[in-house]
Amino acid sequence: LVIPDFASFMADITEVYESLLPERRGAVADYIPQLKRVPPDQFAISVCTVDGQRFSIGDAGVRFCVQSVCKPINYCLTLEEHGSDVVHEHVGREPSGRGFNELSVNGDGLPHNPMINSGAIMSCSLIRASLDIADRFDHVADTWRRLSGGGHVGFNNAVYLSERQTADRNFALGYFMREHGAFPGNTNLIETLEFYFQCCSVELDSDGLASVASTLANGGIVPLSNDRVFSTGSVQKCLSLMSSCGMYDYSGEFAFTIGLPAKSGVSGALMLVIPQVMGIAIWSPRLDPLGNSVRGIEFCRQLVQKYNFHMYDSL
Ligand code: GLN
Repeated sequence: LVIPDFASFMADITEVYESLLPERRGAVADYIPQLKRVPPDQFAISVCTVDGQRFSIGDAGVRFCVQSVCKPINYCLTLEEHGSDVVHEHVGREPSGRGFNELSVNGDGLPHNPMINSGAIMSCSLIRASLDIADRFDHVADTWRRLSGGGHVGFNNAVYLSERQTADRNFALGYFMREHGAFPGNTNLIETLEFYFQCCSVELDSDGLASVASTLANGGIVPLSNDRVFSTGSVQKCLSLMSSCGMYDYSGEFAFTIGLPAKSGVSGALMLVIPQVMGIAIWSPRLDPLGNSVRGIEFCRQLVQKYNFHMYDSL
């Protein structure tokens, strides 16, 4: 067992969970009307180890939208389909040092990396581009289903419609990248943007997301089903970019203090990967000014204080 004394690990997680319940700082994302309506004080933590031990606490059965947590999954799908050389003709791999929806491209006219909006829109243009849009979405949803180890994966149509209606910035990003010739030939921009909004509106609960995170921790094989979803090489590249770019403009600070690959979304979801050990999903909708879950970040901080999970704790 990777965590021999799982009972005391669960007790520690429970203690952190309880210590964070009174935390009410931050606000739910309000730029997508439907997200603004989510009760802000919900809080869930789920753990899944690479050998399949599981634990969850709080609102673990409540489903939420993945939002930006779809970015690493879609990036892995592009790597599986095209290999990294082709993918990175269209997207960089440096942190942007800017907000997640900043209107900017790198010196080559490409989005900075796949973990910010522009790069995630680019990933969407690369996923099964020759299929019709329904089959492309099915491919993504099936992937989530497999990654979640058989958990329920849904789609929140209201969030999708709400986002699409208020997506001026993402449309601007799309046109800006097209102006720079960043997309593959034959890209249908509107369809690509709609596909991106759909990917953001995939929903699952924290147990499901913990299984997704544990699959990344396990090099691409779902611990709960032994299903290989991604190659180890794709996961390695994805985790590298999550480490440098996964937490928006807090990524450098997060790498310094937490030292683990992670990805957050404006729904308050946070997927934390402890390579070869476990995946953890934290969901709590109140966000800090950079767009990360307040309780999510605080949980990570306390976790690495209690356990030697920081990448360089092994030195
Ligand atoms: N759907 C959101 C957007 O494109 C996702 C952003 C996020 O979670 N940071 O704006």
